[in-house]
Amino acid sequence: MKQYEFWFVVGSQFLYGTEVLEIVAERAVEMVQKMNDSGLLPYKLVYKDTIKTNAGITEIVKEANYADECAGIVAWCHTFSPSKMWINAFVNLQKPYCHLATQYNLTIPNEEIDMDFMNLNQAAHGDREHGFITARLRMPRKIIAGYWQDEEVLKRLGSWMRAAVGVAFSKQLRIMRFGDNMREVAVTEGDKVEAQAKFGWQVNTWPVGRLVEAMDEVTDAEIDALMEVYREKFEFATDDLETVRYQAREEIAIKKMLDQEGCKAFTNTFEDLYGMRQLPGLATQHLMAQGYGYGGEGDWKTSALVAIMKAMSRDKSGGTTFMEDYTYHLEKGNEYTLGAHMLEVCPSIAADKPRIEVHHLGIGGREEPARLVFEGREGPAIAVSLIDLGNRFRLICQDVECVKPIMDMPNLPVARVMWRPMPDLLTSIECWLTAGGAHHTVLSYDVTAEQMRDWARMMDIEFVHISKDTTPESLERDLFLADLAWKLK
Ligand code: MN
Repeated sequence: MKQYEFWFVVGSQFLYGTEVLEIVAERAVEMVQKMNDSGLLPYKLVYKDTIKTNAGITEIVKEANYADECAGIVAWCHTFSPSKMWINAFVNLQKPYCHLATQYNLTIPNEEIDMDFMNLNQAAHGDREHGFITARLRMPRKIIAGYWQDEEVLKRLGSWMRAAVGVAFSKQLRIMRFGDNMREVAVTEGDKVEAQAKFGWQVNTWPVGRLVEAMDEVTDAEIDALMEVYREKFEFATDDLETVRYQAREEIAIKKMLDQEGCKAFTNTFEDLYGMRQLPGLATQHLMAQGYGYGGEGDWKTSALVAIMKAMSRDKSGGTTFMEDYTYHLEKGNEYTLGAHMLEVCPSIAADKPRIEVHHLGIGGREEPARLVFEGREGPAIAVSLIDLGNRFRLICQDVECVKPIMDMPNLPVARVMWRPMPDLLTSIECWLTAGGAHHTVLSYDVTAEQMRDWARMMDIEFVHISKDTTPESLERDLFLADLAWKLK
């Protein structure tokens, strides 16, 4: 992935004299250095300039739009900075924007404070002018308020940076499709032209026959090497090494094709495995563990989202995976959802070392595939679904609490996760169905609901959050109002 950075600009003006501007610029340099040194920002903050004129900010925005390494702009108004001089730049801004509402000093100095101090330290005043113009221009922006050395503020800024990198990653994402959408399924369909215009995704198809050719070209030595990796990472709970080697062959061939085409995500379907002996199971699982997106049954939207959320949380260890709500435990007061897929769950979420097992697969009409079997780890997570409503995309984000599965399920031959969705299982089902969320989701222990909200805002799509505070009544009203608003947009 690219080495992304974020540009820091400070608002001011000439009114207070050059001495004040020098202090402002010095402080901006100091602040950026200390924020970088905090270790709480996942990407570097680069001080660009103290803005005094229309031309000043216009030049920076032009430069930012063309700089691939710049994933966003962070702005703050140290003094009052008249906003009409920012308008020409803002109407051309194509990068994510964060307004950091902070001030240099933590406290009001009782003895020292006089009118010179007031003129220099008027972020409370300057930030309001800035808030007005960004509101007036209907700019999508993140606002973070708080002291710039406060840990919570820096963590929130870091969290937003990750969401902004998700935007940059999205805009250059290519998705490889093998086969079409599963026959008759609606929710995994979508407008690929609109998705490219909105998200930047290049979603294109490659013949399964080409993949089969690529599989034939894989050498024994390549398979031997990958088998060694499997041995390091996974426990072999099968003697059927030929079946495992076949998955290695599939993985190597898929990876080569993805890398050759610059694709970071792929889909396939059990309905189109022409010339293949097994549905890729272990192969797909291990590709996801390496950061590639995947969606089953032709689900390119979920595949793209898996890749993006992995990019947002790279270097984190909690895990992000393709997931599907499978079945419920409806015992009163002890309700859970069991999530799994017929094979393809990413081992990044595993609580313990995954086992390679070989079992019969009832659909697809192919040989028994090798797959990784494990339990997902405990802890808070989100389940996210992206649907196409015709006039817009809707991103639905559900807060969940993953638990150790309350039973062993020794005869279930796939990876599994058990969770309690917020606010409770039955309410969450009613809310999820009301919003139209898919059976396919991205389950992530690393990415937060706030980050997905930030990402949706930057992508200009609808965001629906089902949290501990959601009620079916409030959700229904919000969806009704959003429907009206999106018709007008
Ligand atoms: Mn599925």
